[in-house]
Amino acid sequence: MSELLELTVAQAVARIAAGDISRAEYFETWREAAGGDDLNAYLWRAEDGVGEVEGPLAGIPVAVKDIFCTEGVETTAASRILEGYRPPYTATAVRRLAEAGAGVLGKTNMDEFAMGSSNENSAFGPVRNPWDRERVPGGSSGGSAAVVGGGLAPCAIGTDTGGSIRQPASLCGIVGLKPTYGAISRYGMIAFASSLDQCGPLTRDVTDAALLLAALQGRDPCDSTSVGIEGGVAAPSREDLAGLRFAVPAELGHDAIEPGVRAVFEATLKRIEGLGGEIAEVPLPHAEHGISAYYVIAPAEASSNLARYDGVRYGTRAEAGDVIEMYETTRAEGFGEEVKRRIMLGTYALSSGYYDAYYGRAQKVRTKIAEDYAAAFAEFDFVVTPTSPSVAFRLGEKTDDPLAMYMNDFFTVPMSLAGIPAISIPAGLAEPEGGGPQLPVGFQIAAAAFAEQRLLNAAYALEQAIGFEARPGDGDG
Ligand code: GLN
Repeated sequence: MSELLELTVAQAVARIAAGDISRAEYFETWREAAGGDDLNAYLWRAEDGVGEVEGPLAGIPVAVKDIFCTEGVETTAASRILEGYRPPYTATAVRRLAEAGAGVLGKTNMDEFAMGSSNENSAFGPVRNPWDRERVPGGSSGGSAAVVGGGLAPCAIGTDTGGSIRQPASLCGIVGLKPTYGAISRYGMIAFASSLDQCGPLTRDVTDAALLLAALQGRDPCDSTSVGIEGGVAAPSREDLAGLRFAVPAELGHDAIEPGVRAVFEATLKRIEGLGGEIAEVPLPHAEHGISAYYVIAPAEASSNLARYDGVRYGTRAEAGDVIEMYETTRAEGFGEEVKRRIMLGTYALSSGYYDAYYGRAQKVRTKIAEDYAAAFAEFDFVVTPTSPSVAFRLGEKTDDPLAMYMNDFFTVPMSLAGIPAISIPAGLAEPEGGGPQLPVGFQIAAAAFAEQRLLNAAYALEQAIGFEARPGDGDG
C-alpha cells in the first residue's frame, strides 16, 4: 500500500504545501484506492477532479454523502425516486470545500433520505463494515464512515439528523462531528428534517475534523438558519483536561448498553480523570424521552419535505393514465419501506385533531431536553456518553424490528434535539455480544452551542491519551 494512504489530512496538506508530493499524485493515489471499493460504499467515483484552488485543503480528496447536491453529478440520497437526478447547482458545504482547495473523490452510499442507523435502507444495497463485512457500518452516513474507516478516502462529509454522523463513525472506528445547528449551511443538502439536519466531517482524527469544520462553517445567504462559528475554528491543541468538568447523565440507561461498550466507556472516564478532568453525574431527566420526541418531529418534517417528490420535478416518473395516478405510482415505486413508514407517521402526527397531541407535545419535550442541557452546561463543560449502545451489529439483525433499530440513536438524538455540538471519537475495542472479533467503540462528548473549539480541544487531548491505533483487519487470524 502507498504510504500516502497512511497520512492524515493535516499531514498530507503539509507534504503537499512543502512540495514533497504533488496534488495530482495524491489525488490519483486515493482515486485508485477508492476504485477498490468492496464495501458498496461509493455510489459514484470521480474520474478526476483534483482541486486547483490554493487553500487550507489544497489537493485533498473528500468523499461526499450522496445527500449533497453536486452540479451535473447524479445525486440520489440513495432513493429510486431520485435516480437520474443531476442537480443544476452544488451544495454550499461542497462548494466551501472546493474553495479551500479540496476535490470530490466520490459520492457515498447512505440510508435512503438519511433515514436509518445501519445503511440497510439504501435503494442501492447495504454498505459493509470495513472491520467485519457481515456487519453494518451504521447509518445513515454509513458510506462516508466506511470509506474513511476502510482506507477508501482520507476524509468525508455526512449529515446528522439524530446521530447519522456520530453513530456510523463509532461503528467504523473513526471521528465524527455533528456541529451546532446553524454552524454549516444546509443549502443544497437534501432535506430530511430541516430543524435537525446538520452537515459535519468524518475523519481519522480530531485534527482533521477541525480542519474540515474550519472550511465548512460559515454564514450563507442561501440558508437563513446558518450563522457560522464566531471566530472560526483552529487546529486543536490541548495536552490535558485540567480544570474541565465532565458530566455523565444520571439516567444513562445502563441496561441498554452492551457490557463491552460499558467497559470502554468506564475506562475512558478514568482516562479523563488521569488527564486532570473532573467527572460527576448530572440529571438530564428528559433525555430518555428524546427518541419518542424525535420519532414524531423528524417524520413530521420529513412528510412535508418529501412531498416535493411527485414525478414532475425530480428524478424518475412512473407511466400512468392520469396525473393523480402518476403521482401515486411514482411515490409507491420510488420510495422504500422506511421512507413510506415515516411519511405515514409524520402525516398522521401533523393531521388536524392529532397535531397538538403528537407534534405539539413532542416540541414541548424538545424544549425540556434543551433546558436540561442548558442547566448542565451552567455547571459543566461537557456531557459524555457512549456514542452507541452496541458495537456494529450483523446485517439483517434489526431490519425486522424498527423500534430496536431506532434505539441505536438513544445517546445521539438528545443533542440533535437541543441543537448542540457533539463528537464521537474511537475509544477502544470490544467484543460484540455473542462473541466474535473485537470491534470499535465510540465515546461521545457534547458541549454547549457554538463551543466547538473547546469541544475539539478536549477531544484532542483525550484522543492523544487513548492512542487508538487499531485498523480493520488487525484482529483477523
Ligand atoms: N437513525 C436516525 C434516523 O433514522 C438518525 C438519522 C440521521 O441522523 N439522519 O432517523
